[in-house]
Amino acid sequence: MSASASTYGTEAQREITAAAAAFLERRLTREVVRAVVDAGSGHDRALWREIAALGWCGLCVPEDQGGLCLGLQELVGLAELLGGSMAPVPFLETAALAVSVLSVSGVSGGPWLQRLAEDSPVITLSFQEGTARREADGWVLDGKWDAVAAAAQASMLLLPACTAEGLALFAVETGFDEHGSNDVAGSAPLKVTPRRSIDLTQSLGDVQATALRLPAAACLAIGPAVVEALARARRVGAVVLAAEQVGLAEAALAASVAYTGQRVQFGRPVAAFQAVKHRCAQMMVAVESARSAVQAAAQQLDAFKADAAGPDQFEGGDAARVTAQARVLATEAALFCTREALQLHGGAGYTWEVDIHLMLRRAQAAAQRFGAVGLWLDEVAGRLLEGDRPPGPSDARTVEAPADGAAQIRRDIRSWLNEALQGSFAALKGLHGPGEPGFDPDQARAWEQALAAGGWTAVGWLREHGGRGWSLAEQVAFHEEYASAGGPGRLGHIGEQLLAPTLLMHGTPEQQARFLPPIREGREFWAQGYSEPGAGSDLAAVRTRARLEDGQWIIDGQKVWTSWAHLSDWIFVLARTEPGSQRHQGLTLLLVPLRQPGIEVRPIRQITGHAEFNEVFFDGARTDAALHLGPVGQGWRVAMDLLQVERGVSTLGQQAHFRQELDAVLAVAQSNGAARDPVLRRRLARAALGLDTLRCNALRVLAQDAEAQASGQTAATSGMPADGGQTAPQRAAFIAKYAWSNWRRDLGELAMDVLGAQGLVDGEDEDTARLQRLWLESRADTIYAGTNEIQLNLIAERALGMPR
Ligand SMILES: Cc1cc2nc3c(=O)[nH]c(=O)nc-3n(C[C@H](O)[C@H](O)[C@H](O)COP(=O)(O)OP(=O)(O)OC[C@H]3O[C@@H](n4cnc5c(N)ncnc54)[C@H](O)[C@@H]3O)c2cc1C
Repeated sequence: MSASASTYGTEAQREITAAAAAFLERRLTREVVRAVVDAGSGHDRALWREIAALGWCGLCVPEDQGGLCLGLQELVGLAELLGGSMAPVPFLETAALAVSVLSVSGVSGGPWLQRLAEDSPVITLSFQEGTARREADGWVLDGKWDAVAAAAQASMLLLPACTAEGLALFAVETGFDEHGSNDVAGSAPLKVTPRRSIDLTQSLGDVQATALRLPAAACLAIGPAVVEALARARRVGAVVLAAEQVGLAEAALAASVAYTGQRVQFGRPVAAFQAVKHRCAQMMVAVESARSAVQAAAQQLDAFKADAAGPDQFEGGDAARVTAQARVLATEAALFCTREALQLHGGAGYTWEVDIHLMLRRAQAAAQRFGAVGLWLDEVAGRLLEGDRPPGPSDARTVEAPADGAAQIRRDIRSWLNEALQGSFAALKGLHGPGEPGFDPDQARAWEQALAAGGWTAVGWLREHGGRGWSLAEQVAFHEEYASAGGPGRLGHIGEQLLAPTLLMHGTPEQQARFLPPIREGREFWAQGYSEPGAGSDLAAVRTRARLEDGQWIIDGQKVWTSWAHLSDWIFVLARTEPGSQRHQGLTLLLVPLRQPGIEVRPIRQITGHAEFNEVFFDGARTDAALHLGPVGQGWRVAMDLLQVERGVSTLGQQAHFRQELDAVLAVAQSNGAARDPVLRRRLARAALGLDTLRCNALRVLAQDAEAQASGQTAATSGMPADGGQTAPQRAAFIAKYAWSNWRRDLGELAMDVLGAQGLVDGEDEDTARLQRLWLESRADTIYAGTNEIQLNLIAERALGMPR
């Protein structure tokens, strides 16, 4: 079994997971797991002892009780590894469920927590309820608690029971001997009957109490504290189990990549077939999305704890949503990845011998716990449609520290926008771009200059280049708040967000001095001249050519789908400058003025009826000999670096627009009654969780970037290598485009379903028209900036290393 340490989270988490990964790699071999499966016990007692000795169960136990007092973030790091190695140990039950229940104030769990930190007895919890009545010197417990995980190995069972005074929680010592024998319990009044789980790497037992007499101290709490403790355990347990599910999904993916890489059919490894590569790439999208969700949930629940949050906050909307997000995404990732892993192993996958069925079984068993996905979605839908919205940008507690000034920036940009979006600019408020009715290009240009005058352009550029040198968190705050406060789509986007970072990477000082100021001041606008009629996904097939003549480049050819060329002043053009050169060789990125006799721009009408993109014809067009970005003949590398920055920090602003669109869909669903449809409710909940996940993923990537930049390494997303070397995006960065574009396309379809019959009439009213536009516009997202299919190719080949 393989365990791989993940690369996110706190420093402590990374240290712990690195050590744990090494331990599990060495200790938890395939043979060890197989021995447990063959024995039918679902439990490895020796491994548990070693894990106990490493202190893993006391990770979240308070220091004064002998624990390490770390948080969920560290716990999920271990859980992911254990899930990935299919560890046959009750870590979830003991380290997560028992510790969280015993730690709730009002539950007298202190002595047990201490024991847990010292020698890690197996403690397990059931959420089912028995009954109990008081006797003079104690309690009498009756009931049946079915299929309790690790019950047959537990030294203590935590069993809820109804009493005349309210719900109570009982600590029942089983008296099992240290060999995990249940002989003692085999006799009434406490009986534990081992049951074989569909998951052969976990153990289950039915617990029965018949007039079981317990001392008074066995009752750890009665009333609200029990309800709170169980609710908290359910949330913590769901997140920790979600981490295990992520590990499992990752293991299924790794097994699939390895198997298809060596299995040869039709004369080549099956991993070379695109259908197989795309399947693996989709598995990686599921794994990384779920990993981002789990990490964010752990971080947020830890933050609640650190804030000394009362039960309301821990159990309130935020906690519910982040838990549901982790639970839903991880459950689906584990089910999807194990199902596809079996498929990709062919007949071998259907054998007992190959481990895939163990993974499939573990994934299915995990899905059956803590309530089905649909129930979690219903819970989210209830809160969402009853007014508890997903976190808005101002609620970005995951990135902002009070010290970094981000909160002040949010206030400043919001109040500046409130004033600025008045008078002639009022019509621009909330418009996304030139394709929208009411988007006046002259106003949009004037708006760019107003923004610049207010100091709100180029906020991420270094001060020496005229920027504001803001930190990552400050830039995130700015972009999110700008979009959510109705700041209009930026005509300066391509210049400021795509070209400028590339100019800083590859441009000469003269080029930087010439082009950066007008971009920053909103005086010059740029278009991107990559695609051609014969070069779309296959960009290396570009045929537009340029030759040097009398100190100028002379350009002939055609570009197509060129966004905003009709509104722009300049275009960067990927052109073939070495006659006879092939593919990636002999290309140069030229900076070309658009308004000149040798260029004709013809707008193309899109499915929305508007024209945002164009054909651009070059017939002897000219630009200065010095206006090549990067070395002549090496434009491919420069062009690729530019594509990398498309995934930068401004995508958080894009997501703020998505949130507005989601809010618009929710508002219509509430007003027209669609929110009462149970199927639509779940889809709405899924959309909300999906958007939260996009944000978590983006923040994870940006955090990795910040860390990489701080340590002088290559940034994952921004494409700004500290040493000018090749960028090496990380896995979370690879999935971003595919994930957001599919999310938005699905939102467009959901919007139409929410409209129902109301959506039939084109532009019936403003709300309807907006959702109809969303439905159509979102169809471009899975095509531009690399189609879905190209994204999956990239994920498979670059991130997973599958053959080309
Ligand atoms: C709204 C919008 C704005 C745009 N703006 C710009 C812009 O400003 N500048 C610019 O240069 N371009 C722009 N584009 C163009 C965009 O980058 C291309 O449309 C895109 O790269 C796909 O190229 P294509 O349209 O030629 O499709 P093709 O490459 O012909 O693809 C057709 C289909 O075949 C699939 N396919 C192609 N190759 C493979 C493969 N190897 N494996 C599997 N499937 C494959 C594709 O995924 C697609 O489904 C824009 C596009 C849109 C929709």
